Parts: sequence; C-alpha cells; structure tokens
Amino acid sequence: MNRIALLCLLSFMPTRGFAAKWYKGNTHVHTVLCGHADSTPEVVAQWYHDRGYNFLVLSEHNKFIDPATVKLSGEIRDDFLLVPGEEITGGRNNGSIHFTAMNTSRLVPWDFRDKNRSVVMQKYVDETEKAGGTNILNHPIYSRTVQVHEIAPVKRLYMFELYNAHPGVHNFGTAHHISTEQLWDALLEKGMTLYGVSSDDAHKLKKWGEKENNPGRGWVMVNSEELSSDAITKAMLRGDFYSSSGVMLEELVRGTNSIELSVNEDETACELASEFLFGRPVKKGKVGTTIEFIGPGGEVVKTVQGTTAKCEAKRAYLRAKVTHRVKNQDGSLREYYAWTQPVFTDGR
Ligand SMILES: [Zn+2]
Ligand SMILES: [Zn+2]
Repeated sequence: MNRIALLCLLSFMPTRGFAAKWYKGNTHVHTVLCGHADSTPEVVAQWYHDRGYNFLVLSEHNKFIDPATVKLSGEIRDDFLLVPGEEITGGRNNGSIHFTAMNTSRLVPWDFRDKNRSVVMQKYVDETEKAGGTNILNHPIYSRTVQVHEIAPVKRLYMFELYNAHPGVHNFGTAHHISTEQLWDALLEKGMTLYGVSSDDAHKLKKWGEKENNPGRGWVMVNSEELSSDAITKAMLRGDFYSSSGVMLEELVRGTNSIELSVNEDETACELASEFLFGRPVKKGKVGTTIEFIGPGGEVVKTVQGTTAKCEAKRAYLRAKVTHRVKNQDGSLREYYAWTQPVFTDGR
C-alpha cells in the first residue's frame, strides 16, 4: 500500500476515545424521493458514512426526511450523524429560490408567491426558524441568478453556497454574472454577516464521471465541541468552519482581528487522490499552494506562496482563500480550494 492510500485509510478510521474537534460534512444531496436522483436515502447516507464524513443533510426538494427512518447497514460508526433538513425549493412563481433548511423538526412550507425575491427569501428564513432550524441560500448562480440587491435586505440569513459542486452551477461566474466570491464580498461589504458553504448537491451515485453530478466534491469542515445537530448548526452560525473543494487545513485560528492558518498537505494529498474529485480546470498559473487574504471589495491584501500564513484585518472584515494548483500528466492545470469564514472588526 502506498503512503497516500495508507493515510487516506487512517483518516477514514473512527476517532473513538478522542473528542474530535473538526467534523467533515455535506449539507446538500438528493435521493430518489425527488424523482430525478438515482439512489435511496439509505444508499446516499451509506455512501457518505463509508467515506469518512461525520455529518450529512439529506436535503430533498420540499420533502423532510426524518433521519430516524434512514437505516444504515454494517458496522455503523458512532461519529456519523444525519442532520434533519430539506431543500426548500421555490419554482418560478416563488422566484426560483432554493434554500437548505437544516436542523429542522418538520417540513417547512415553501409556496410563497411574491414578485419580490427578497420577500420570498425572508419568508423562507422566518418559516425555517419556526421549524427550529437555520438556512443556507443555495447555488445563487444557477438557472435564475440571485442578485446582491435581492439578498442584502434578507434578515437573519447567515449562510450561502459559495461552492456548489453540481456541474451545472456557475460558482466562478458567467459572461452575465459575477462569481459567488464577488457576490460574497459585495454582501459582506454591505454589512451582512454571511458565511460561505461548500456542498455537493449530488443527484447521481450510479453513473460516475467528471461531468456527472456525483458526491465527494464539496464539503465543510466544522469545528464543534460535539457532533450533534444543534452543536454543528451553532458552530456554523458562529462561522467556526471552513469550506473545501479539496484543500484541507492543519490549523485555522480566526482571532478577533486576524486569521492564521496552515495547510495539511497529507490530508490534501489524500483528498486529491479521490477518484470523485476533479478540480477546476484553469488555463494558466504556477503549480503549488497560494494563500490569499481578502478584504472589502474583494481586495487581496496579502498573498503568500506556501502553506502557512497569518494576516491582520485592517478594514471591516478579512477572509482567507487557499488555492492549490496541480499539473496533470496531460499538462492540464486544475485548482482546488479552501475558504475560511471572515473575521469582522466592525462589531457585527
Ligand atoms: Zn437547488
Ligand atoms: Zn439541490
């Protein structure tokens, strides 16, 4: 067994006897219950369980899947949790808005008709709170892009999908729309407390390939005292997590006005060795790891070539992004990322 395979195996072993602090999770995936995905809730949950994830939201379109009804098989790890939730899925009459509702106790009503998409989004937040949960605004740059001015007025929306691994989602922008990172910086600059989530939004587990909508490509690492639905949700609402499309961190300290981090190169190599992960194809750039610290307006205030860096916030907020660029055997370049949540210096 080569070194990477051994490391990957070790990282998938249960952490019994230890109070693990970082939990790997996916907040967005589909099942046969929606009619256009190919696997049952049991098969989907088992896939994540068997690949070392710690938590999963079975976020079905307007259907609440009670975790108690989903039976896993074989030896079940005690550090795997199904967080109850759904994907609130508005159609054209509801502004085509999709939200993950997580840590809810029941189905959240979704059919609120209003031409003003901010009103529909606020209704989703309010109704999710009544069901005991919290929200993530999903894939803002998809069939009908959600704009900065539509999101900004929504109260108590604290998370959005910065990276959604569905091949049809335009995380990095289009000819007609800014990227999700530009959207994030615009909303942070307007004073929103908003954290960026990375998710799979997978529908297919029977046919595999880069262009297929498979799992294993976008996830969050949550720093939580314990693995429970309440604790994971609260940690995410504090911004105590980072989002990944392949890069894993060794250390992450979000201080009161600084961010310090280092990359875990072994765990990153392990993730990149995954047969499910392809990375973002890019045309140019140097091979290696770059850490960027980003402030209001998307201004890159510090760039470090390497795997360890620290930066102080001089303006209202600061966040960090790690880019790991790899050259494949055919000469093509691929990028993988980790994004930290911002620290705020303006008291928000
Ligand atoms: Zn959706
Ligand atoms: Zn979805």
